[in-house]
Amino acid sequence: ADNTVILDGAGVKRALTRIAHEVLERNKGVDGLVLVGIRTGGVHLAHELAARLNEIEGVTVPVGAVDITMYRDDIKGHSEHLPVGKTDIPFALEGKKVVLVDDVLFTGRTIRAAMDALMDQGRPSCIQLAVLVDRGHRDLPIRADFVGRNVPTSRSENIIVVFDEQNKPTEVILEK
Ligand code: 5GP
Ligand code: MG
Repeated sequence: ADNTVILDGAGVKRALTRIAHEVLERNKGVDGLVLVGIRTGGVHLAHELAARLNEIEGVTVPVGAVDITMYRDDIKGHSEHLPVGKTDIPFALEGKKVVLVDDVLFTGRTIRAAMDALMDQGRPSCIQLAVLVDRGHRDLPIRADFVGRNVPTSRSENIIVVFDEQNKPTEVILEK
């Protein structure tokens, strides 16, 4: 396989710092803001974003997690929903501005399922989406509000997001 480095360690850091600033600008600060990561990569990235927001604003933003079990409903039959696994959101969503966080946005089916899971837990005032990589190929009318890097891919290619032992993102690679 032929691999291309899309973002190195410094590049990932810059992208996350920029996204943190964009989130603050869009929401005029952290008031009413909560982050919800999609397991597992999205949760690690949500904690990274929370750390940036804390550095910039000096406020701790709550971080929750949703688990959308990984299987593609368009490959394995035609179930209406992706199965929703363990959701761990230890705070009320009612009236909150939720920033959903994931590592890679592809067809949009995972985000759709995550929004279903959120709606089951309460009624946020809005949901925004932050992703480290948008690789295209959407099957649904879903877009990210905050994107680390847009990476045109073929369907057969794969994005590898590397995390270290502390769950810090260290590299993004395009695997051809
Ligand atoms: P979607 O549901 O949009 O088709 O796929 C997005 C979900 O699948 C994300 O949670 C993401 O982690 C995973 N995913 C889809 N494509 C890739 C990819 O190329 N690389 C990685 N690392 N994850 C992917
Ligand atoms: Mg995932």
